[in-house]
Amino acid sequence: MLRDGQIDVLIAGGGFAGLTLAIALRQGLGPSFSVTVADPTLGKSRADDERASAIVAAARRLLATLGVWQAVADEAQPILDMVVTDSRLDDAMRPVFLTFAGEVEEGEPFAHMIENRFLIAALEAKARAAGIELRASAAAKFSPEQATAFDHFDVELADGTKVATGLLIAADGAHSSIRERAGIALHGWDYGQSAIVINVGHERDHNGRAEEHFLPAGPFAILPLKGQRSSIVWTETTREAERIVALPADAFHAELEQRFKLHLGDITSVGPRRVHPLGFYVARSFIAERLALVGDAAHVIHPIAGQGLNMGLKDVAALAEVIVDAARLGLDPGATDVLERYQRWRRFDTMTMGLATDGLNRLFSNRSAALRLVRDVGLGMVDRVPGLKRLLIREAAGLVGEVPKLLRGELL
Ligand SMILES: Cc1cc2nc3c(=O)[nH]c(=O)nc-3n(C[C@H](O)[C@H](O)[C@H](O)COP(=O)(O)OP(=O)(O)OC[C@H]3O[C@@H](n4cnc5c(N)ncnc54)[C@H](O)[C@@H]3O)c2cc1C
Repeated sequence: MLRDGQIDVLIAGGGFAGLTLAIALRQGLGPSFSVTVADPTLGKSRADDERASAIVAAARRLLATLGVWQAVADEAQPILDMVVTDSRLDDAMRPVFLTFAGEVEEGEPFAHMIENRFLIAALEAKARAAGIELRASAAAKFSPEQATAFDHFDVELADGTKVATGLLIAADGAHSSIRERAGIALHGWDYGQSAIVINVGHERDHNGRAEEHFLPAGPFAILPLKGQRSSIVWTETTREAERIVALPADAFHAELEQRFKLHLGDITSVGPRRVHPLGFYVARSFIAERLALVGDAAHVIHPIAGQGLNMGLKDVAALAEVIVDAARLGLDPGATDVLERYQRWRRFDTMTMGLATDGLNRLFSNRSAALRLVRDVGLGMVDRVPGLKRLLIREAAGLVGEVPKLLRGELL
């Protein structure tokens, strides 16, 4: 039974994970189940944020089921096929080791590229339209002891107001202060690598092709955006990345062209340069008393396979299903056994995906001739073994294993 002013769920963080969870809970349980999202960036324009993400088929199904994808479909570029090469920086030709045609089902591409700002704006608009309470303030303080002793607890927002909630969701990103305040440690390591991320314009059409070039310093990905534009995720050692982004425009262009090559014609424009340090981190636990972690607050992985956000949406789909099931049975959604179901569902899968991307990065980000032979034989085999490519495509599209309902495109 809720007291006056008490809500069912407070979601700290209105990024992809937080907003998607709020909309899923509203769709599953209606307005009598009260959900608030708190994030200081809510309502602020993100028009100058050029970052883009690959949204895999399962995540697109979830967004379509929630009525969000429809608002961004025109901005999304389907990935129609993908090539993988393994070469040295100065190789004139890049031998292609692997190609994927990009459909998981007839007419359903395995992924789409979309700029984050379109998706965030659509999620925020949907949340507002659904009547979800959005508070433009950070979640600042709470006492884990109070959460242990009662069926609700107070969370203080940065604007000084207090929200009494039965469940707190940490969707506050990789540097989650909620996770820290709850005393949940992180396991993992830095790669000593950083990703340089830029959008470029080019003369020729990419025809929906994504490219992953495994260069000795790490993967260099060219991901197609709407129009004659691509998003580049370019991995280097952190020191080299810092040197490269600080170069004057001409010298930067020359470094870029050496890796981008000229098959899409000349590079016609180069957007703002950003650098992200890369690491692999998983929270020791995804839950605590009346608390659950989702998205980057729970795990950060290497962007080599473009799966970070997709894993976060998988957390969201699993947690929404667990909460909706409990609430429909009249159970307390913040109870430990309910949250444990979520943790069992997601933590193992996260470790598997995290270690797979970690292994991939280690295998490819080096100059060893022996390892180069091993990986090229491996890639050649993937190309030849019947059925294996299809399985890999379905795995990358998030459609393998115990897939939550929303990711299968089913309503909760
Ligand atoms: C170079 C690079 C490329 C990537 N490419 C891809 C890709 O192609 N595909 C993919 O799936 N993933 C990709 N990722 C990963 C993806 O960007 C992240 O996994 C995703 O943004 C995480 O979403 P989130 O909602 O968990 O966290 P965030 O997007 O970090 O959102 C967290 C939100 O919490 C808010 N916040 C912070 N503190 C508080 C607080 N105390 N109270 C309230 N709110 C708070 C912040 O303002 C923010 O809005 C990439 C990552 C990198 C670094």
